[in-house]
Amino acid sequence: MTALSVTQSAEIVAAVLFILSLAGLSRHETSRSGVVFGIAGMAIALAATIGLASRSIAATGIGLLVIGMATGAGIGLWRARVVEMTGMPELIAMLHSFVGLAAVLVGWDGYYSVEAKGTRQTEIAPDLVHIHHAEVFIGVFIGAVTFTGSIVAFGKLSEQMKSRPLTLPGKNVLNLGALVAFFTLTIAFVASPNLGLLVAVTIVALLLGWHLVISIGGGDMPVVVSMLNSYSGWAAAASGFLLNNNLLIVTGALVGSSGAYLSYIMCTAMNRSFISVIAGGFGIEVAPPGDEDYGDYTEINVFDAAELLRTSRSVIITPGYGMAVAQAQYPVAELASKLRDRGIEVRFGIHPVAGRLPGHMNVLLAEAKVPYDIVLEMDEINGDFPQTSVVLVIGANDTVNPAAMDDPHSPIAGMPVLHVWEAETVIVFKRSMNTGYAGVQNPLFFKDNTRMLFGDARERVDDILRTL
Ligand code: NDP
Repeated sequence: MTALSVTQSAEIVAAVLFILSLAGLSRHETSRSGVVFGIAGMAIALAATIGLASRSIAATGIGLLVIGMATGAGIGLWRARVVEMTGMPELIAMLHSFVGLAAVLVGWDGYYSVEAKGTRQTEIAPDLVHIHHAEVFIGVFIGAVTFTGSIVAFGKLSEQMKSRPLTLPGKNVLNLGALVAFFTLTIAFVASPNLGLLVAVTIVALLLGWHLVISIGGGDMPVVVSMLNSYSGWAAAASGFLLNNNLLIVTGALVGSSGAYLSYIMCTAMNRSFISVIAGGFGIEVAPPGDEDYGDYTEINVFDAAELLRTSRSVIITPGYGMAVAQAQYPVAELASKLRDRGIEVRFGIHPVAGRLPGHMNVLLAEAKVPYDIVLEMDEINGDFPQTSVVLVIGANDTVNPAAMDDPHSPIAGMPVLHVWEAETVIVFKRSMNTGYAGVQNPLFFKDNTRMLFGDARERVDDILRTL
Protein backbone atom coordinates (compact mmCIF):
# COMPACT_ATOMS: atom_id res chain seq x y z
CA MET A 1 0.00 0.00 0.00
CA THR A 2 1.35 3.46 -0.85
CA ALA A 3 1.47 6.22 1.76
CA LEU A 4 -1.34 8.02 -0.07
CA SER A 5 -3.71 5.06 0.01
CA VAL A 6 -2.94 4.56 3.74
CA THR A 7 -3.94 8.20 4.28
CA GLN A 8 -7.09 7.80 2.19
CA SER A 9 -8.11 4.64 4.07
CA ALA A 10 -7.51 6.41 7.39
CA GLU A 11 -9.69 9.30 6.19
CA ILE A 12 -12.54 6.94 5.32
CA VAL A 13 -12.30 5.23 8.73
CA ALA A 14 -12.29 8.63 10.47
CA ALA A 15 -15.32 9.80 8.45
CA VAL A 16 -17.26 6.65 9.39
CA LEU A 17 -16.32 7.16 13.07
CA PHE A 18 -17.62 10.75 12.90
CA ILE A 19 -20.94 9.52 11.49
CA LEU A 20 -21.16 6.88 14.27
CA SER A 21 -20.33 9.61 16.77
CA LEU A 22 -23.23 11.80 15.60
CA ALA A 23 -25.57 8.81 15.68
CA GLY A 24 -24.43 7.97 19.25
CA LEU A 25 -24.76 11.56 20.46
CA SER A 26 -28.35 11.76 19.27
CA ARG A 27 -29.55 9.52 22.14
CA HIS A 28 -29.08 9.84 25.89
CA GLU A 29 -28.22 6.15 26.38
CA THR A 30 -25.60 5.99 23.60
CA SER A 31 -24.04 9.43 24.07
CA ARG A 32 -20.93 8.13 25.86
CA SER A 33 -20.07 5.79 23.00
CA GLY A 34 -20.76 8.71 20.62
CA VAL A 35 -18.06 10.73 22.39
CA VAL A 36 -15.61 7.80 22.23
CA PHE A 37 -16.20 7.38 18.46
CA GLY A 38 -15.63 11.11 17.99
CA ILE A 39 -12.34 11.04 19.91
CA ALA A 40 -11.13 7.99 17.96
CA GLY A 41 -12.12 9.59 14.62
CA MET A 42 -10.32 12.81 15.47
CA ALA A 43 -7.16 10.97 16.60
CA ILE A 44 -7.06 9.03 13.30
CA ALA A 45 -7.78 12.21 11.30
CA LEU A 46 -4.92 14.06 13.00
CA ALA A 47 -2.49 11.17 12.50
CA ALA A 48 -3.43 10.89 8.80
CA THR A 49 -3.10 14.64 8.21
CA ILE A 50 0.24 14.90 9.99
CA GLY A 51 1.47 11.77 8.19
CA LEU A 52 0.58 13.29 4.83
CA ALA A 53 2.04 16.69 5.73
CA SER A 54 5.32 15.16 6.94
CA ARG A 55 6.09 14.14 3.34
CA SER A 56 6.13 17.73 2.12
CA ILE A 57 7.10 19.83 5.18
CA ALA A 58 10.61 20.25 6.58
CA ALA A 59 11.43 18.93 10.08
CA THR A 60 11.18 22.45 11.57
CA GLY A 61 7.64 22.70 10.19
CA ILE A 62 6.69 19.42 11.87
CA GLY A 63 8.31 20.66 15.09
CA LEU A 64 6.19 23.83 14.97
CA LEU A 65 3.09 21.74 14.25
CA VAL A 66 3.71 19.56 17.30
CA ILE A 67 4.34 22.60 19.55
CA GLY A 68 1.12 24.24 18.28
CA MET A 69 -0.90 21.07 18.80
CA ALA A 70 0.51 20.42 22.28
CA THR A 71 -0.24 24.01 23.36
CA GLY A 72 -3.78 23.86 21.92
CA ALA A 73 -4.47 20.45 23.47
CA GLY A 74 -3.17 21.66 26.86
CA ILE A 75 -5.39 24.75 26.84
CA GLY A 76 -8.36 22.69 25.59
CA LEU A 77 -7.96 20.08 28.35
CA TRP A 78 -7.63 22.76 31.03
CA ARG A 79 -10.71 24.71 29.84
CA ALA A 80 -12.83 21.57 29.50
CA ARG A 81 -11.92 20.53 33.05
CA VAL A 82 -12.63 23.87 34.74
CA VAL A 83 -15.65 25.05 32.79
CA GLU A 84 -18.90 25.17 34.76
CA MET A 85 -21.86 23.59 33.05
CA THR A 86 -23.51 27.02 32.93
CA GLY A 87 -20.46 28.27 31.01
CA MET A 88 -20.61 25.59 28.25
CA PRO A 89 -22.61 27.59 25.66
CA GLU A 90 -20.15 30.50 25.74
CA LEU A 91 -17.20 28.09 25.47
CA ILE A 92 -18.85 26.47 22.44
CA ALA A 93 -19.47 29.91 20.88
CA MET A 94 -15.79 30.77 21.40
CA LEU A 95 -14.70 27.49 19.76
CA HIS A 96 -16.93 28.24 16.75
CA SER A 97 -15.15 31.58 16.37
CA PHE A 98 -11.82 29.70 16.07
CA VAL A 99 -13.19 27.61 13.19
CA GLY A 100 -14.36 30.79 11.47
CA LEU A 101 -10.98 32.48 11.94
CA ALA A 102 -9.17 29.39 10.66
CA ALA A 103 -11.32 29.42 7.50
CA VAL A 104 -10.47 33.10 6.91
CA LEU A 105 -6.74 32.40 7.34
CA VAL A 106 -6.89 29.36 5.04
CA GLY A 107 -8.69 31.49 2.43
CA TRP A 108 -6.09 34.26 2.63
CA ASP A 109 -3.31 31.67 2.45
CA GLY A 110 -5.00 30.24 -0.66
CA TYR A 111 -4.95 33.71 -2.21
CA TYR A 112 -1.24 34.24 -1.47
CA SER A 113 -0.28 30.78 -2.76
CA VAL A 114 -2.21 31.04 -6.03
CA GLU A 115 -3.90 34.29 -7.04
CA ALA A 116 -1.20 36.65 -5.70
CA LYS A 117 1.57 34.71 -7.49
CA GLY A 118 -0.27 34.77 -10.80
CA THR A 119 -2.02 31.56 -11.75
CA ARG A 120 0.66 30.52 -14.24
CA GLN A 121 3.10 29.97 -11.38
CA THR A 122 0.91 27.35 -9.68
CA GLU A 123 0.14 23.70 -10.30
CA ILE A 124 -3.61 24.30 -10.69
CA ALA A 125 -4.99 23.30 -14.09
CA PRO A 126 -6.06 26.41 -16.07
CA ASP A 127 -9.69 25.28 -16.34
CA LEU A 128 -9.90 24.83 -12.52
CA VAL A 129 -8.36 28.12 -11.61
CA HIS A 130 -11.67 30.02 -11.56
CA ILE A 131 -13.01 27.45 -9.12
CA HIS A 132 -10.04 28.21 -6.87
CA HIS A 133 -10.89 31.94 -6.97
CA ALA A 134 -14.47 31.17 -5.92
CA GLU A 135 -13.30 28.79 -3.15
CA VAL A 136 -11.03 31.46 -1.67
CA PHE A 137 -13.81 34.05 -1.67
CA ILE A 138 -16.59 31.81 -0.35
CA GLY A 139 -14.33 30.34 2.35
CA VAL A 140 -13.29 33.78 3.58
CA PHE A 141 -16.90 35.00 3.55
CA ILE A 142 -18.39 32.08 5.54
CA GLY A 143 -15.40 32.07 7.91
CA ALA A 144 -15.60 35.79 8.66
CA VAL A 145 -19.39 35.70 9.25
CA THR A 146 -18.87 32.76 11.64
CA PHE A 147 -15.96 34.51 13.39
CA THR A 148 -17.66 37.79 14.37
CA GLY A 149 -21.08 36.14 14.82
CA SER A 150 -19.56 33.70 17.32
CA ILE A 151 -17.72 36.46 19.18
CA VAL A 152 -20.98 38.39 19.63
CA ALA A 153 -22.69 35.14 20.71
CA PHE A 154 -19.89 34.62 23.26
CA GLY A 155 -20.40 38.18 24.56
CA LYS A 156 -24.15 37.70 24.90
CA LEU A 157 -23.96 34.25 26.48
CA SER A 158 -21.31 35.30 28.99
CA GLU A 159 -23.44 38.38 29.76
CA GLN A 160 -20.62 40.74 28.81
CA MET A 161 -22.98 42.17 26.18
CA LYS A 162 -26.69 43.01 26.53
CA SER A 163 -28.93 40.19 25.35
CA ARG A 164 -31.58 42.60 24.01
CA PRO A 165 -31.56 42.74 20.19
CA LEU A 166 -29.94 45.78 18.62
CA THR A 167 -32.34 47.21 16.06
CA LEU A 168 -30.50 49.43 13.58
CA PRO A 169 -32.76 51.38 11.20
CA GLY A 170 -33.27 49.34 8.03
CA LYS A 171 -31.58 46.26 9.54
CA ASN A 172 -33.04 43.92 6.91
CA VAL A 173 -31.85 46.16 4.08
CA LEU A 174 -28.36 46.15 5.66
CA ASN A 175 -28.26 42.33 5.71
CA LEU A 176 -29.63 42.06 2.19
CA GLY A 177 -27.17 44.74 1.01
CA ALA A 178 -24.25 42.73 2.47
CA LEU A 179 -25.40 39.62 0.57
CA VAL A 180 -25.75 41.54 -2.70
CA ALA A 181 -22.26 43.03 -2.12
CA PHE A 182 -20.89 39.50 -1.55
CA PHE A 183 -22.35 38.19 -4.84
CA THR A 184 -21.12 41.20 -6.81
CA LEU A 185 -17.62 41.04 -5.29
CA THR A 186 -17.45 37.27 -5.94
CA ILE A 187 -18.21 37.75 -9.65
CA ALA A 188 -15.59 40.51 -9.86
CA PHE A 189 -12.98 38.38 -8.00
CA VAL A 190 -13.55 35.29 -10.17
CA ALA A 191 -13.16 37.46 -13.28
CA SER A 192 -10.07 39.27 -12.02
CA PRO A 193 -8.76 38.38 -8.54
CA ASN A 194 -7.04 41.11 -6.55
CA LEU A 195 -6.22 41.96 -2.96
CA GLY A 196 -8.62 44.94 -2.78
CA LEU A 197 -11.63 42.70 -3.46
CA LEU A 198 -10.46 40.15 -0.87
CA VAL A 199 -10.10 42.88 1.77
CA ALA A 200 -13.55 44.22 0.84
CA VAL A 201 -15.30 40.84 1.20
CA THR A 202 -13.54 40.18 4.51
CA ILE A 203 -14.79 43.50 5.92
CA VAL A 204 -18.35 43.00 4.58
CA ALA A 205 -18.50 39.47 6.06
CA LEU A 206 -17.07 40.52 9.45
CA LEU A 207 -19.71 43.26 9.71
CA LEU A 208 -22.51 40.96 8.53
CA GLY A 209 -21.62 38.28 11.14
CA TRP A 210 -21.60 40.91 13.89
CA HIS A 211 -24.93 42.40 12.75
CA LEU A 212 -26.72 39.05 12.24
CA VAL A 213 -26.16 37.96 15.83
CA ILE A 214 -26.41 41.32 17.59
CA SER A 215 -29.90 41.76 16.08
CA ILE A 216 -31.16 38.56 17.71
CA GLY A 217 -32.80 38.70 21.15
CA GLY A 218 -31.70 36.67 24.18
CA GLY A 219 -34.69 34.32 23.95
CA ASP A 220 -33.56 33.17 20.49
CA MET A 221 -29.92 32.56 21.47
CA PRO A 222 -30.28 28.73 21.64
CA VAL A 223 -31.08 28.77 17.92
CA VAL A 224 -28.16 31.13 17.24
CA VAL A 225 -25.71 28.76 18.96
CA SER A 226 -26.81 25.81 16.80
CA MET A 227 -26.88 28.05 13.72
CA LEU A 228 -23.27 29.15 14.32
CA ASN A 229 -22.40 25.50 14.84
CA SER A 230 -23.77 24.90 11.35
CA TYR A 231 -21.89 27.90 9.87
CA SER A 232 -18.64 26.67 11.43
CA GLY A 233 -19.20 23.31 9.67
CA TRP A 234 -19.66 24.99 6.29
CA ALA A 235 -16.59 27.15 6.95
CA ALA A 236 -14.54 23.99 7.64
CA ALA A 237 -15.91 22.35 4.46
CA ALA A 238 -14.91 25.44 2.45
CA SER A 239 -11.38 25.16 3.90
CA GLY A 240 -11.39 21.46 2.95
CA PHE A 241 -11.92 22.38 -0.72
CA LEU A 242 -9.06 24.87 -0.61
CA LEU A 243 -6.67 22.51 1.17
CA ASN A 244 -7.76 19.62 -1.01
CA ASN A 245 -8.60 17.66 2.15
CA ASN A 246 -11.53 15.28 1.63
CA LEU A 247 -11.91 14.51 5.32
CA LEU A 248 -12.32 18.19 6.17
CA ILE A 249 -15.00 18.47 3.48
CA VAL A 250 -16.90 15.46 4.85
CA THR A 251 -16.55 16.54 8.49
CA GLY A 252 -17.54 20.13 7.68
CA ALA A 253 -20.60 18.94 5.77
CA LEU A 254 -21.62 16.65 8.68
CA VAL A 255 -21.32 19.49 11.22
CA GLY A 256 -22.96 21.98 8.84
CA SER A 257 -25.99 19.85 8.04
CA SER A 258 -26.54 18.47 11.55
CA GLY A 259 -26.25 22.01 13.00
CA ALA A 260 -28.76 23.29 10.43
CA TYR A 261 -31.17 20.48 11.31
CA LEU A 262 -30.81 21.16 15.06
CA SER A 263 -31.53 24.86 14.42
CA TYR A 264 -34.64 23.84 12.49
CA ILE A 265 -35.84 21.56 15.34
CA MET A 266 -35.24 24.30 17.92
CA CYS A 267 -37.06 26.88 15.81
CA THR A 268 -40.06 24.56 15.56
CA ALA A 269 -40.01 23.96 19.35
CA MET A 270 -39.83 27.70 20.02
CA ASN A 271 -42.36 28.70 17.36
CA ARG A 272 -39.80 30.73 15.45
CA SER A 273 -39.37 31.02 11.69
CA PHE A 274 -36.09 29.35 10.69
CA ILE A 275 -35.50 31.86 7.88
CA SER A 276 -36.23 34.79 10.18
CA VAL A 277 -33.65 33.65 12.77
CA ILE A 278 -30.85 32.80 10.30
CA ALA A 279 -31.49 36.15 8.62
CA GLY A 280 -30.73 37.97 11.89
CA GLY A 281 -34.29 38.41 13.15
CA PHE A 282 -35.72 39.25 9.71
CA GLY A 283 -39.31 40.46 10.07
CA ILE A 284 -39.24 40.49 13.88
CA GLU A 285 -40.10 43.97 15.16
CA VAL A 286 -39.39 44.54 18.84
CA ALA A 287 -40.81 47.46 20.78
CA PRO A 288 -38.25 49.42 22.85
CA PRO A 289 -38.46 48.75 26.61
CA GLY A 290 -41.14 50.97 28.16
CA ASP A 291 -41.78 52.09 31.74
CA GLU A 292 -44.82 49.88 32.05
CA ASP A 293 -46.42 49.78 35.48
CA TYR A 294 -46.96 46.15 36.39
CA GLY A 295 -48.45 46.90 39.84
CA ASP A 296 -47.18 45.47 43.12
CA TYR A 297 -45.72 42.09 43.88
CA THR A 298 -46.36 40.06 47.03
CA GLU A 299 -43.57 38.49 49.08
CA ILE A 300 -43.82 35.27 51.06
CA ASN A 301 -41.59 33.99 53.87
CA VAL A 302 -40.12 30.53 54.22
CA PHE A 303 -42.57 29.48 56.97
CA ASP A 304 -45.69 30.36 54.91
CA ALA A 305 -44.19 28.72 51.81
CA ALA A 306 -43.58 25.51 53.76
CA GLU A 307 -47.15 25.65 55.13
CA LEU A 308 -48.61 26.08 51.64
CA LEU A 309 -46.65 23.04 50.45
CA ARG A 310 -47.65 20.95 53.46
CA THR A 311 -51.35 21.50 52.77
CA SER A 312 -51.20 21.08 48.99
CA ARG A 313 -52.54 18.14 46.94
CA SER A 314 -50.30 18.51 43.93
CA VAL A 315 -47.09 20.42 43.22
CA ILE A 316 -45.28 21.18 39.96
CA ILE A 317 -41.65 22.35 40.05
CA THR A 318 -40.44 24.36 37.03
CA PRO A 319 -36.67 24.85 37.23
CA GLY A 320 -34.64 27.33 35.18
CA TYR A 321 -31.16 28.78 34.82
CA GLY A 322 -31.16 30.05 38.47
CA MET A 323 -31.38 26.45 39.74
CA ALA A 324 -28.18 25.67 37.84
CA VAL A 325 -26.45 28.80 39.20
CA ALA A 326 -27.48 28.03 42.79
CA GLN A 327 -26.78 24.27 42.33
CA ALA A 328 -30.17 23.84 43.99
CA GLN A 329 -31.01 20.55 42.25
CA TYR A 330 -29.99 18.45 45.31
CA PRO A 331 -32.24 20.15 47.93
CA VAL A 332 -34.98 20.45 45.27
CA ALA A 333 -34.80 16.66 44.71
CA GLU A 334 -34.93 16.12 48.49
CA LEU A 335 -37.94 18.44 48.77
CA ALA A 336 -39.73 16.54 45.99
CA SER A 337 -39.09 13.23 47.72
CA LYS A 338 -40.21 14.57 51.14
CA LEU A 339 -43.49 15.88 49.69
CA ARG A 340 -44.09 12.61 47.82
CA ASP A 341 -43.57 10.71 51.09
CA ARG A 342 -46.46 12.75 52.51
CA GLY A 343 -48.73 11.61 49.64
CA ILE A 344 -48.51 14.87 47.66
CA GLU A 345 -48.26 14.48 43.88
CA VAL A 346 -44.99 16.14 42.73
CA ARG A 347 -43.87 16.54 39.12
CA PHE A 348 -41.30 18.61 37.26
CA GLY A 349 -42.15 20.67 34.15
CA ILE A 350 -39.21 21.20 31.80
CA HIS A 351 -39.15 23.91 29.16
CA PRO A 352 -37.12 22.98 26.03
CA VAL A 353 -34.78 26.00 26.43
CA ALA A 354 -34.66 26.29 30.24
CA GLY A 355 -31.10 26.97 31.44
CA ARG A 356 -28.37 27.58 28.92
CA LEU A 357 -28.05 24.25 27.09
CA PRO A 358 -30.50 21.90 25.42
CA GLY A 359 -31.39 19.32 28.11
CA HIS A 360 -29.66 21.38 30.86
CA MET A 361 -32.40 20.83 33.47
CA ASN A 362 -32.79 17.12 32.64
CA VAL A 363 -29.07 16.60 33.26
CA LEU A 364 -29.17 18.44 36.61
CA LEU A 365 -32.23 16.54 37.81
CA ALA A 366 -30.74 13.21 36.70
CA GLU A 367 -27.57 14.16 38.64
CA ALA A 368 -29.73 14.68 41.77
CA LYS A 369 -31.43 11.28 41.13
CA VAL A 370 -34.93 12.63 40.50
CA PRO A 371 -36.95 9.70 39.03
CA TYR A 372 -37.40 10.08 35.23
CA ASP A 373 -41.12 9.34 35.35
CA ILE A 374 -41.93 12.55 37.27
CA VAL A 375 -39.90 14.77 34.91
CA LEU A 376 -42.24 15.89 32.11
CA GLU A 377 -41.70 17.98 29.01
CA MET A 378 -43.56 21.29 28.63
CA ASP A 379 -46.14 19.92 26.19
CA GLU A 380 -46.90 16.97 28.47
CA ILE A 381 -47.56 19.11 31.56
CA ASN A 382 -48.92 22.42 30.27
CA GLY A 383 -52.55 21.28 30.48
CA ASP A 384 -52.21 20.25 34.16
CA PHE A 385 -51.50 23.62 35.80
CA PRO A 386 -55.19 24.53 36.45
CA GLN A 387 -55.52 21.38 38.66
CA THR A 388 -52.28 22.13 40.57
CA SER A 389 -52.20 23.55 44.12
CA VAL A 390 -48.68 25.03 44.12
CA VAL A 391 -46.06 25.68 41.43
CA LEU A 392 -42.46 26.24 42.56
CA VAL A 393 -40.60 28.33 39.97
CA ILE A 394 -36.95 27.69 40.88
CA GLY A 395 -34.77 30.31 39.16
CA ALA A 396 -36.80 30.29 35.92
CA ASN A 397 -37.92 33.51 34.31
CA ASP A 398 -38.25 33.76 30.49
CA THR A 399 -39.60 30.22 30.26
CA VAL A 400 -42.55 31.10 32.55
CA ASN A 401 -43.22 34.60 31.19
CA PRO A 402 -46.88 35.12 30.14
CA ALA A 403 -45.81 38.14 28.01
CA ALA A 404 -44.69 35.60 25.40
CA MET A 405 -48.40 34.86 24.88
CA ASP A 406 -50.01 38.20 25.76
CA ASP A 407 -47.68 40.86 24.34
CA PRO A 408 -47.13 40.65 20.57
CA HIS A 409 -44.32 43.27 20.78
CA SER A 410 -42.31 41.42 23.41
CA PRO A 411 -38.88 40.09 22.25
CA ILE A 412 -40.08 36.64 23.34
CA ALA A 413 -43.56 36.94 21.71
CA GLY A 414 -44.75 33.63 20.30
CA MET A 415 -42.28 31.49 22.29
CA PRO A 416 -44.21 28.67 24.00
CA VAL A 417 -43.98 28.98 27.81
CA LEU A 418 -45.02 26.97 30.87
CA HIS A 419 -48.50 28.18 31.94
CA VAL A 420 -47.57 28.28 35.64
CA TRP A 421 -49.91 31.20 36.44
CA GLU A 422 -52.93 28.89 35.89
CA ALA A 423 -52.17 27.06 39.18
CA GLU A 424 -53.78 28.06 42.49
CA THR A 425 -50.54 29.56 43.85
CA VAL A 426 -47.13 30.19 42.30
CA ILE A 427 -44.01 30.64 44.45
CA VAL A 428 -41.10 32.23 42.57
CA PHE A 429 -37.58 31.63 43.94
CA LYS A 430 -35.13 34.34 42.82
CA ARG A 431 -32.79 36.87 44.36
CA SER A 432 -34.27 40.15 43.07
CA MET A 433 -36.78 41.59 40.60
CA ASN A 434 -34.14 41.42 37.82
CA THR A 435 -35.19 40.31 34.37
CA GLY A 436 -34.32 36.92 32.83
CA TYR A 437 -31.92 36.26 29.97
CA ALA A 438 -34.09 37.94 27.30
CA GLY A 439 -33.99 41.17 29.35
CA VAL A 440 -37.77 41.58 29.64
CA GLN A 441 -39.83 42.06 32.79
CA ASN A 442 -42.09 39.19 33.78
CA PRO A 443 -45.77 40.07 34.53
CA LEU A 444 -46.05 36.69 36.33
CA PHE A 445 -44.33 38.21 39.39
CA PHE A 446 -47.15 40.77 39.78
CA LYS A 447 -50.11 38.41 39.49
CA ASP A 448 -52.49 38.03 42.47
CA ASN A 449 -51.70 34.32 42.90
CA THR A 450 -47.89 34.77 42.73
CA ARG A 451 -45.67 34.97 45.81
CA MET A 452 -42.00 36.02 45.60
CA LEU A 453 -39.53 34.14 47.81
CA PHE A 454 -36.31 36.15 47.55
CA GLY A 455 -32.81 34.77 48.08
CA ASP A 456 -30.44 32.16 46.70
CA ALA A 457 -32.58 29.24 45.50
CA ARG A 458 -30.46 26.61 47.26
CA GLU A 459 -30.57 28.43 50.61
CA ARG A 460 -34.34 29.04 50.39
CA VAL A 461 -35.12 25.41 49.49
CA ASP A 462 -32.86 24.26 52.35
CA ASP A 463 -34.78 26.59 54.70
CA ILE A 464 -38.10 25.09 53.57
CA LEU A 465 -36.74 21.57 54.09
CA ARG A 466 -35.72 22.47 57.65
CA THR A 467 -39.13 24.05 58.35
CA LEU A 468 -41.00 21.04 56.98
P1 NDP B 1 -33.65 32.99 32.75
O1 NDP B 1 -32.26 33.10 32.29
O2 NDP B 1 -34.72 33.66 31.97
O3 NDP B 1 -33.78 33.50 34.26
C1 NDP B 1 -33.02 32.92 35.28
C2 NDP B 1 -33.43 33.56 36.60
O4 NDP B 1 -32.72 32.91 37.62
C3 NDP B 1 -33.08 35.03 36.68
O5 NDP B 1 -34.24 35.82 36.58
C4 NDP B 1 -32.36 35.18 38.03
O6 NDP B 1 -33.01 36.19 38.79
C5 NDP B 1 -32.53 33.81 38.68
N1 NDP B 1 -31.34 33.39 39.43
C6 NDP B 1 -30.05 33.47 39.07
N2 NDP B 1 -29.25 33.00 40.02
C7 NDP B 1 -30.06 32.59 41.03
C8 NDP B 1 -29.83 32.01 42.30
N3 NDP B 1 -28.60 31.74 42.75
N4 NDP B 1 -30.90 31.72 43.08
C9 NDP B 1 -32.16 32.00 42.65
N5 NDP B 1 -32.42 32.55 41.46
C10 NDP B 1 -31.38 32.84 40.66
O7 NDP B 1 -33.94 31.42 32.91
P2 NDP B 1 -34.86 30.40 32.12
O8 NDP B 1 -34.24 29.07 32.38
O9 NDP B 1 -36.30 30.62 32.47
O10 NDP B 1 -34.71 30.76 30.59
C11 NDP B 1 -33.56 30.45 29.84
C12 NDP B 1 -33.22 31.60 28.91
O11 NDP B 1 -31.91 31.37 28.35
C13 NDP B 1 -34.18 31.71 27.76
O12 NDP B 1 -34.34 33.05 27.38
C14 NDP B 1 -33.46 30.92 26.66
O13 NDP B 1 -33.87 31.27 25.36
C15 NDP B 1 -32.01 31.35 26.93
N6 NDP B 1 -31.00 30.44 26.41
C16 NDP B 1 -31.18 29.08 26.51
C17 NDP B 1 -30.27 28.21 25.96
C18 NDP B 1 -30.55 26.73 25.95
O14 NDP B 1 -30.05 26.02 25.09
N7 NDP B 1 -31.32 26.25 26.91
C19 NDP B 1 -29.01 28.71 25.33
C20 NDP B 1 -28.90 30.16 25.34
C21 NDP B 1 -29.86 30.98 25.87
P3 NDP B 1 -32.21 36.98 39.97
O15 NDP B 1 -31.00 37.56 39.31
O16 NDP B 1 -33.18 37.99 40.45
O17 NDP B 1 -31.87 35.95 41.00
